[in-house]
Formats: sequence, structure tokens, C-alpha cells
Amino acid sequence: MLGVLAQRLARRICKECKEQYVGSKEEYEELRLGYGAEHWDKLGIKQDNTFRLSRGKGCETCNRSGFKGRVALHELLLGTDHMKRMIQQKSRTEDMLKTAIEEGMTTLVQDGIQKVLQGHTTNKEVKAVAIK
Ligand SMILES: [Zn+2]
Repeated sequence: MLGVLAQRLARRICKECKEQYVGSKEEYEELRLGYGAEHWDKLGIKQDNTFRLSRGKGCETCNRSGFKGRVALHELLLGTDHMKRMIQQKSRTEDMLKTAIEEGMTTLVQDGIQKVLQGHTTNKEVKAVAIK
């Protein structure tokens, strides 16, 4: 086993009507908690007027929805020796997830939040497709 890849498709913000805005304190906290506070703090993102998010205003091109096309969110679980052993031993899912993150895995939600910060999609979209 080399690895296991998970993918979800989120709606992409329409390029024609995309606008940036300063995210609220609530939006900041929601992203920070969703990402995992200890990992988020390493990104060095401040909660001030440099904290920008994007949204689609809605135009002819996107039928007033603010979205056009899709963006893929990924999560790649690497088949490391440690992980293979955990699978053989039927370890608990939470323990495997913890190990995977320690070994550098970016979760679907984290990948989604990175794409929110890059202005490709919104946190609402990420929550709709990446959280069960
Ligand atoms: Zn549009």
C-alpha cells in the first residue's frame, strides 16, 4: 500500500464577480478551530484588517450564485511502516488519524481551509463537503 487518497469537490468562487473582504472575528475563530488551533498558529495569520477572505457577489456568468466550477480538496494518507503496522493491529481510527497528522498529513478540512485562505472557495463550502 502506497497510500489512500480522499477527494471532495467544493464549489469554486466565480472569478468574474469575486471580491475580497476583511473576515470577521467569528470567521477567523471558525477557521482557526476548524484547522486545529495549534497548527493554525504556525501559519502566522493575524486577526486584523489583513485577514482577507473572498466571496462571489453573483453575476450573469455564475447565474447569480457566486460560484462557477469546482475545486478539489485532497487528503493523502501515506502508507508508512508505522501506519501499515497500525492497520494490521486494527488500531483505533482516532489513533491512526493522530499518527497521520504527526507524520505530516494535511486533512481534508485543512486542505479546504487553505483553499479558503487562497480565495478559491468559502468555509461554508468546505464544511458542506469535508465534514461528515
Ligand atoms: Zn459570478
